[in-house]
Amino acid sequence: MTPSPIRKIVIVGGGTAGWMTAAGLAAVLKGLPVAIELVESAEIGTVGVGEATVPHIRDYNARLGLDEADFMRKTQATYKLGIEFRDWGRKGDAYVHPFGAFGQPIAGIPFHQHWLRARALAKKGLGEAAPIQAYSLPIMAGLAGKFAPPSPDPRSLGSTFSYAYQFDAGLYALYLRAYSEARGVVRTEGKIATVAQRPDDGFVTGVTLESGQTIEGDLFVDCSGFRGLLIEQTLQAGYDDWTQWLPCDRAAAVPCDSVEPATPLTRATSDAAGWRWRIPLQHRVGNGYVYCSSYISDDEAARVLLEKLDGEAQADPRFLRFVTGRRKQQWLKNVVAIGLSSGFLEPLESTSIHLIQVAISTLLELFPHQGCEQADQDEYNRVMDLEFERIRDFLVLHYHANQREDSAFWNDRRAAPIPDSLAQKIALFRERGVVAAYKDGFFKEPSWLSVYLGQNVLPDGFDPLVEAIDPAQSARLLAELQAAVARTVQSMPEHETFLRSVADARTPA
Ligand SMILES: Cc1cc2nc3c(=O)[nH]c(=O)nc-3n(C[C@H](O)[C@H](O)[C@H](O)COP(=O)(O)OP(=O)(O)OC[C@H]3O[C@@H](n4cnc5c(N)ncnc54)[C@H](O)[C@@H]3O)c2cc1C
Repeated sequence: MTPSPIRKIVIVGGGTAGWMTAAGLAAVLKGLPVAIELVESAEIGTVGVGEATVPHIRDYNARLGLDEADFMRKTQATYKLGIEFRDWGRKGDAYVHPFGAFGQPIAGIPFHQHWLRARALAKKGLGEAAPIQAYSLPIMAGLAGKFAPPSPDPRSLGSTFSYAYQFDAGLYALYLRAYSEARGVVRTEGKIATVAQRPDDGFVTGVTLESGQTIEGDLFVDCSGFRGLLIEQTLQAGYDDWTQWLPCDRAAAVPCDSVEPATPLTRATSDAAGWRWRIPLQHRVGNGYVYCSSYISDDEAARVLLEKLDGEAQADPRFLRFVTGRRKQQWLKNVVAIGLSSGFLEPLESTSIHLIQVAISTLLELFPHQGCEQADQDEYNRVMDLEFERIRDFLVLHYHANQREDSAFWNDRRAAPIPDSLAQKIALFRERGVVAAYKDGFFKEPSWLSVYLGQNVLPDGFDPLVEAIDPAQSARLLAELQAAVARTVQSMPEHETFLRSVADARTPA
């Protein structure tokens, strides 16, 4: 059939994905003759977890024109400078994956190459090299519980990092709902019972609620969560199951009272059959245990989770099940799957909300104003496939590069096969510390470096070009940078103090 112009978008689902999509589309398509309606069911509810983000969320909020202080008050948000990994590598190890760089290139050669040489020389008793984290402002600030926004001056050390938020995703969805409704998005409450399709090509034409009400549309965004009401249950797009690489299939989640000032770091601590998250918000701490059900029972996972909480649990643990992987086609016919309906990667690097954001911006770039064309779908699916695969490889690295010998789960992870794309990257790094650059994809050099070095994947050598620089000169620059990082951290306010000043944190909105 000839494609027909998009005049009505129907978003199925009102979780984080549904309301982020509604707000993003409403902000960008304003002024065009395109109506947006979102259907959600209070009876079904939302997944109700998802609190840690990556810095790109700030671009999304800025595109919507949200006021940061208002957003922080309404979502009980805290600032986030990175993720602290405890007990990955060997038990007792700790490192931070920062939202920022390790130093600056010296003579055009990446900073870490100079550090690798300094480390090699130090091993021979020639000079010193501090742990690489000492050269990263966001790491040292995060560990010291300090926070200030990045400096706008690109020459300043204070400009070498970014930040994200830790927030209550349920409150965020409510916030975006108010934003969307104020911009004309119509919200309909009800449970979808049936989906109608065009007989000739299977395009979705409408959904009918249990009440009998029918909602018709030209483009459907499936934000219905794991069930994939349109993309899977109706169109049967299929699913690439990635559990051979990422076998964790369950999570137990529980909020607890805060007993100390909120840190500007999310924490991921490895445990016998997976890992535990700790996400400090203004009004509570979010906690969870992501685990593999072949190695631990739900009861035992809940017991471990409760035992390790900082403060008193605010509820009973909630259990979630998932299958790691990706929908084979995330845009099929006139249905685009965004959020959990498009696939799932465990929250080790806080990437799900980021993937929602990438999906929205990619959809907007390829928006099918004149109707859904195959070329747009193919490009959308190519971009999203890459995003998923690259995050997958980065997550697998955390499991693969472990030296824990205290549990069957970790021994098996070390021995398990890894994707070829990851094996190539590790081989390149081991040779002389080169981080293979991706043209597309989220995680860049500092991210890979932090995990490699934090989990003892150490290169055999370093870039020979470093030898062109006098070791004494590069040692002096390293020492100066370390001192400058320490001085800057000292001058920064406590995270809690800054938070209160911006978001009036102690006064609930
Ligand atoms: C254990 C765990 C931890 C996570 N932690 C993080 C994190 O730290 N950071 C991060 O970025 N992400 C995290 N995520 C992911 C994050 O929670 C999700 O990406 C996000 O909440 C989006 O969910 P969703 O909107 O796709 O689905 P849901 O929240 O499940 O919403 C689905 C919506 O569809 C509606 N619906 C479904 N069926 C029907 C029907 N028949 N009729 C009408 N409405 C219907 C429901 O009512 C609901 O409104 C985590 C996920 C899990 C499982």
